[in-house]
Amino acid sequence: MIKLLKLGVQASSAGKFYSSVDRAKKLECNTMQIFARNPRMFRKVSLDEENIKIFKQKVKKEKISPVVVHIPYTLNLASSWIKFYKLTIKDFIDDLVEADKLGADYLVTHMGSFKGGTERRGLLRIAHALEKILQETKGVKTNILMENTSGSGRWLGYKFSHFKEVFENIKWSKRVGVCLDTAHAWAAGYKINTQEGLDELINEIKNEVGLDRIKVIHLNDTLEKLGSKNDRHYDIGAGCIGKKGFELILRNEVFRNLVFILETPKKTDEDDMRNLEVVRKLYNG
Ligand SMILES: [Zn+2]
Repeated sequence: MIKLLKLGVQASSAGKFYSSVDRAKKLECNTMQIFARNPRMFRKVSLDEENIKIFKQKVKKEKISPVVVHIPYTLNLASSWIKFYKLTIKDFIDDLVEADKLGADYLVTHMGSFKGGTERRGLLRIAHALEKILQETKGVKTNILMENTSGSGRWLGYKFSHFKEVFENIKWSKRVGVCLDTAHAWAAGYKINTQEGLDELINEIKNEVGLDRIKVIHLNDTLEKLGSKNDRHYDIGAGCIGKKGFELILRNEVFRNLVFILETPKKTDEDDMRNLEVVRKLYNG
């Protein structure tokens, strides 16, 4: 049952962004996730070509694969404010092209938050934005992954019928997959720390979009209550999902060959090391 575990963390790209690769390597990760730019700001500058080259060389040398880029939080694919919606599409295209230049396999994005009208209208706005983005980036190899949300506020993507609605309304949907966040799923009401609850989630994904859409798992525990809609990550095994829950997830055939990325809280590398160790133990048994 032992297979190669694909495990990484959200690696800080502070300083020169390519030093994120050194940080991942130091933690003995074989995959990683980064922000390619400040996640709380609008896009201002592009990455320097020389730095991109160094990043790619390091990734190749350290055999980090896949490389996942997380899109900044400022963008909203479901915005009903037209000016902001257009800016989101423009920045998203530039971010996707840049992720491709970095050789990234995936660009992860949250679905978007809607205001006014129905959820369905919000989902159609997302689909329309993606359609435009995909159309404008035809040669790009980096695929987009839509991440499930905790369902707080007006966020879409807390259940998988939302993903279905989006996928059905884009022509190039093969370039779009799913990133499953365990803490968000818990907050959205999926009781994934029991076999029954986990099977329910798996069946829902299977029926709505197909299991082959899931490419990356954001592995996070949480102290928030089941269905609380609160998105707060915590150390693996030390929260409500607990060791038992993560054992079920990591040992499930559906997830076992996927890519696991930790987004657990950290002050120092030790925090990452501790969480990685817990995951490795649970995975290997
Ligand atoms: Zn996440």
